[in-house]
Amino acid sequence: MTLEIGRISDAVQSAHRDNEHLAGGTNASYIPFLASVDPSLFGIAVVTVDGQVVEAGDTGFEFAIESISKVFTMGLAMEHVGADAFHAKVGADPTGLPFNSVMALELHNDLPMSPLVNAGAMSSTSLVPAVGAEDRWRKILAIQSAFAGREIVLSDEVNASEQSTNFHNRAIAWLLYGGGAMYSDPMEACDVYTRQCSTLITAKDLAVMGATLAAGGINPLTKERVVAAATVPHMLAEMTMEGLYTASGDWAYTVGLPGKSGVGGGLIAVAPGQLAIAAFSPPLDPAGNSVRGQAAVAQVANALGLGLYRTPGA
Ligand code: GLU
Repeated sequence: MTLEIGRISDAVQSAHRDNEHLAGGTNASYIPFLASVDPSLFGIAVVTVDGQVVEAGDTGFEFAIESISKVFTMGLAMEHVGADAFHAKVGADPTGLPFNSVMALELHNDLPMSPLVNAGAMSSTSLVPAVGAEDRWRKILAIQSAFAGREIVLSDEVNASEQSTNFHNRAIAWLLYGGGAMYSDPMEACDVYTRQCSTLITAKDLAVMGATLAAGGINPLTKERVVAAATVPHMLAEMTMEGLYTASGDWAYTVGLPGKSGVGGGLIAVAPGQLAIAAFSPPLDPAGNSVRGQAAVAQVANALGLGLYRTPGA
């Protein structure tokens, strides 16, 4: 099914208009920088697999990628160690617990269960083959840039804010080390993971990144192959399992598209073979997902009849 661009544009403009004043949620505050971002910012972008771009609202505002970075590092690490080995080392199941849960580790012998929670994400970061922190960091930044189709950069301000408050993640990194699931120095992995969360992207970038997944690993704007086609289904499956934190099941039930959110207020959803829908709005619900972002992405998906589990007539 090819969607007509006018129909996509109508859906995006309506979703922006209808949700612009949607109340509820609060900015993440455990990372001091995130609390300072204007909560009224709101943007929606769609990018199709043939490179068409539709935008509404604040789609040029740069915000912190945060947890959405986990998806791209996962792809990078998986391609280096192989999908089976990656699965065995990092896992693929939802924890059913918050993204930075220590209890999830306690319950599973200090092994991560999913690359999209902090524990598995730091394990994935440590699996990227590198000669040291800077080499590892360069590779991760390069894959974020390739997915976005432009040079992505670190925000020193976000990074400083996170590095000075990430004690919980450092504790998780040591637990993983004790469990045998850290493949570099644990504090190096935590440092690089913190940096990968501190890069700046726009809602449009996010839609391009998602469209690269929708297109089977080829960036629809630059035409560059970013990851192998065989890697993408694993990434999308994991997004379905754990992409929206403890609300991932609710998202699958109501929207039915692989998604990923971050505590910076970004959200992405991927319709394989068709397009990606991205949104940005900082106020989060208690699970950590953007309130307006979820409503807007769901509205666009619904208006376009997108959903992985839809059968004819549904
Ligand atoms: N840097 C954040 C953390 O590690 C990312 C969390 C998120 O977006 O879920 O806590």
